[in-house]
Amino acid sequence: MVNTEHSTGMTQVNHPYDDLNEQSPQEECGVFGVWAPGEEVSKLTYFGLFALQHRGQEAAGIAVGDGEQILVFKDLGLVSQVFDEPILESLRGNIAIGHTRYTTAGGNTWENAQPMFRMAPDGTDIALGHNGNLINYLELLDKATELGLVDPDKKPSDTDVLTALLANGVGNGKTLFDSAQELLPSVKGAYCLTFTDGHTLYAARDPFGIRPLSIGRLERGWVVASETSALDIVGASLVREVEPGELIAIDESGLKSIRFAETTRKGCIFEYVYLARPDSVIKGRNVNEARLEIGRKLAAEAPAIGDLVIPTPESGTPAAVGFAQASGIPFGQGMVKNAYVGRTFIQPSDTLRQLGIRLKLNPLREVIAGKRLVVVDDSIVRGNTQRAVIRMLREAGAAEVHVRIASPPVKWPCFYGIDFATPGELIANAVTSDKEAEMVEAVRSAIGADSLGYVSIDAMVEATEQPANELCIACFDGHYPMGMPQGNSNAELVQKMQAARSS
Ligand code: SF4
Repeated sequence: MVNTEHSTGMTQVNHPYDDLNEQSPQEECGVFGVWAPGEEVSKLTYFGLFALQHRGQEAAGIAVGDGEQILVFKDLGLVSQVFDEPILESLRGNIAIGHTRYTTAGGNTWENAQPMFRMAPDGTDIALGHNGNLINYLELLDKATELGLVDPDKKPSDTDVLTALLANGVGNGKTLFDSAQELLPSVKGAYCLTFTDGHTLYAARDPFGIRPLSIGRLERGWVVASETSALDIVGASLVREVEPGELIAIDESGLKSIRFAETTRKGCIFEYVYLARPDSVIKGRNVNEARLEIGRKLAAEAPAIGDLVIPTPESGTPAAVGFAQASGIPFGQGMVKNAYVGRTFIQPSDTLRQLGIRLKLNPLREVIAGKRLVVVDDSIVRGNTQRAVIRMLREAGAAEVHVRIASPPVKWPCFYGIDFATPGELIANAVTSDKEAEMVEAVRSAIGADSLGYVSIDAMVEATEQPANELCIACFDGHYPMGMPQGNSNAELVQKMQAARSS
């Protein structure tokens, strides 16, 4: 078996715009897989990855299997920067998996871009893509090191270690399905996986079902994707979600499935609030509808007097529409977003750097001048973006700026695949007071708003139409359903902060 991995030679990227303003919460990755003999699987995957671009903009890759070998092409950059027609033409086969990456574990290097490739002891090619974060990485690393599969000095990513262990279990009559069934119960953390041995497409979801993963049907094949919007773009119809703790295999004999662990469903509520595309459906609930409803509830819980409701584009838009509907205040677009400027590789000059937020957002003066604005945003993490936006709106002539947030205060970091900030960087932790009103007033003052209001946890949960006990809301309430990772300084800090608050 032969593996070919290609690179344009880019190695490490520090995004030149990252210091201009904080990033929004970053999704770690998007995964895609297709089994469709006779179809152009690499192109289907390319378009699937386009629909998942928002889940990771640092690297992209596609692995294609033709039954003989697996070819992997991956590189740093956006999907459209990594692939072109000749590359996709060269990736021919019956099966493909694809990946878009945002770095939360391991550096942003070509080696850490996915799909990962490993060869099993019996020579079987294996490629794997992962969305999530493993919390028992050190345990798995020790195991892989003892077996001589990885070099710990090279700091392999959690996905690399997982792929190495999976591949190692193949052979002596054991298939990749057998290996996954054996290994996955010992893997702790958030994971949605698509993987292949070149013959069969596999997918698996952690027993808590933290990240979404759906199965779709093509006329002559099957698709698995992080979000249903990626099924739509390739013309696949939604069959169902991969269930928490489920491992599936798809080949010419159809879809085979097993449950590899006891499950406790805890879907990430932040997928509804911010991360997923508004046209995706998660556990039967359209994300746009959930955001509209959060906006309506926000208007009821934290009303404002104003002339115009405007969103912080794009993610604040559905909640702003909902707020306008419920409050009766007209909705308008007060800012225009320069999409993806934050992910360009071109260095801004010093003069451009001074423009700060203006590189990302531009105010529409004619719309906002002299108005009392109600600005609806999806979340406040560090508060830097809101502070810059409010200053920009005032400079553009806004009479008042009232900020309404379509999620409760983010107080705790995520260990399950989302990159927020360290606990100390979260603006909601800047005040040690236990009184919510004092915290809100401190944040209002820090960002320079005329007033500030958040939606409550209960209202946000209701808007998702999911049972409260089936959702992870740890970044808001600090209760981590799977626990926290080993050897992680943020986890140790959270434990100390929680102990101090309960004493
Ligand atoms: S901690 Fe927050 S972002 Fe992370 S999985 Fe839970 S709800 Fe989602």
